[in-house]
Amino acid sequence: MLSIAIYGEKILNQQAEPVTVFDNQLHTLADDMLATMQQAHGVGIAAPQVHRSLQMFIMASNPNSRYSDAPMMAPQVVINPQILQTSVEQIRGEEGCLSLPQERCQVARFESIEVRYQDISGEWCQEWLSGFVARIFQHEFDHLQGITLRERMSEQA
Ligand SMILES: [Zn+2]
Repeated sequence: MLSIAIYGEKILNQQAEPVTVFDNQLHTLADDMLATMQQAHGVGIAAPQVHRSLQMFIMASNPNSRYSDAPMMAPQVVINPQILQTSVEQIRGEEGCLSLPQERCQVARFESIEVRYQDISGEWCQEWLSGFVARIFQHEFDHLQGITLRERMSEQA
């Protein structure tokens, strides 16, 4: 289990560094992040949240005690992500964050996004995501730019 950075820790407001080496250490980090996320009943976790300044996150939507309506998907490791295109439409929805354990808030996100990223082997993937999965991607992508829900809240207040 990795310790989760809580809002106020500097790493949560820093731009993460690109991943350049896809080795066993990266696999171990991905496995540890997944275990940490599942233990905390999250649907996503970004490397800065476990004190690693790397452009890497896991999205793993699944219905659980924190998100009872979440769709089920196999956990996906996302590395060096880019958002290529977005829908015009944005949707407001409730979000929480493992780094802000007591807070929930309504955040507007694009309904669908076209994304490009590397998987754990370094292979590039490109796809359209929509709905809750697109919301997770945008939330975790924010973490890699040093943006948390706290910044989104003040922006939308
Ligand atoms: Zn978060």
